[in-house]
Amino acid sequence: MRREELELLHRTIRECTGCPLQLSRRHAVPGEGPCDAGIFLIGEAPGAKEDETGRPFAGRAGKVLDGLLGGAGIARERVFITSILKCRPPANREPAKEEVIACLPYLWRQLNLIRPMLVLPMGRHAVAHTFPLFGMEARRIGEVHGSIFDCIAPWGRVRVIPVYHPAAATHNPGMREVLGSDFSLLRDFRESRAMESIEPVE
Ligand code: URA
Repeated sequence: MRREELELLHRTIRECTGCPLQLSRRHAVPGEGPCDAGIFLIGEAPGAKEDETGRPFAGRAGKVLDGLLGGAGIARERVFITSILKCRPPANREPAKEEVIACLPYLWRQLNLIRPMLVLPMGRHAVAHTFPLFGMEARRIGEVHGSIFDCIAPWGRVRVIPVYHPAAATHNPGMREVLGSDFSLLRDFRESRAMESIEPVE
């Protein structure tokens, strides 16, 4: 049931005409992952590779992300990955306010269908727009990355863990270590009792 609703939502996103990005995109990128994923990752917006393939984090930042998840002992297939914007802004410019306003209801619907226990906004845009969804004031990524925020969502308790965007490591190799440390929190959760219900039964 949840799966069908999510598929329907993603079909709606692929056909969205809610903002001018519909005119320049090749593919909208709803996101992907299990409909009952315990971990929900939020990036900024699709880039060229994502626009070409319709898949999230399909390019260089995606390779970094795979490495970070792998380092925390988590397979990409077990997490849900999406972005604040579902369509690529031309020339990878920053998301415009009206684009975010048009697109955010899709993210909120995805969250309410998937009902994750951990939400990781990645990068300053994702942090700025995700915090208010959980009743928190927008914060600067430099102040909050790698911290855990306990929140109550319509589906229950959620921990929001802001982290730097994986693309940061493609521009600045020094960021690899910071990102590794941010993502290592996932390993801690995985190893704690709090994650027991997140781990799929094997
Ligand atoms: N960066 C993002 O924020 N999202 C993607 O899907 C790809 C790169």
